[in-house]
Amino acid sequence: MTLVRRLMRRVRNDALGTVSRVATQEPIVALTFDDGPHPVYTPQLLDVLAKYDARATFFMVGEQAKAHPDVVQRVAAARHTIGNHTYDHPSFPLIGARERRQQLRACAAAVAPLGSRLFRPPYGHESLASHVSALVSGYDVVGWSAHASDWEQRASQWMLERLLDQIEPGRIVLLHDAIYTPQSPEIADRSEMIAAVEMLLEALSPRYRFVTVPTLLTHGRAIRTWYRPPDRAALAMLPNYDRYAPPRRGPPSAPE
Ligand SMILES: [Zn+2]
Repeated sequence: MTLVRRLMRRVRNDALGTVSRVATQEPIVALTFDDGPHPVYTPQLLDVLAKYDARATFFMVGEQAKAHPDVVQRVAAARHTIGNHTYDHPSFPLIGARERRQQLRACAAAVAPLGSRLFRPPYGHESLASHVSALVSGYDVVGWSAHASDWEQRASQWMLERLLDQIEPGRIVLLHDAIYTPQSPEIADRSEMIAAVEMLLEALSPRYRFVTVPTLLTHGRAIRTWYRPPDRAALAMLPNYDRYAPPRRGPPSAPE
């Protein structure tokens, strides 16, 4: 790639890219947990994080937050960051700008006044238009640079090995304290993931510090990557794909 093309890509990514990690030499990492809060697994996870004095970022689904306000309070009280993961988890490129704004607003209302201005798109799906929707609503978009496929049925040891392979200073790790639409009870069960996180913290603390995304962002330049729109075949595999065919339900149009 020529220097000019590299520079153009850098300018475009810095202006419109999704944060995937932070450039730093310091041994710090941001664990993130999507799709919760869950009444059983989120408290278990909070206990594990507290044991190692680790902070994390929880990208909550508004519908779940509304159902479990006590868990939302507990997450905030333990000084973790709460981010926006929409009200009921639609793929953002598949819905219109107006519904995207409603989704962001309804989730923010469900966690208010505890939410941050960080947004993670469901499934990581983005288009230029959906990215701009998030920016216009006042959100910075956060992706990831490490994961352990914890939305599949995996043993804790398997996930631990994947995480240990990927973790290095400045990484943002994608995990799930719930799965919004699990395809099996085994996948809904978060016990293996929680065990993997505990082994990870045991292995890396105190050499590594586990911090929230906002804290991570104070430790270096955000590395932003340009997203690829999801392909149609991948979209058709979504567990709730039929919701995109009219008529369908949406978030509450006027959240209190
Ligand atoms: Zn999700």
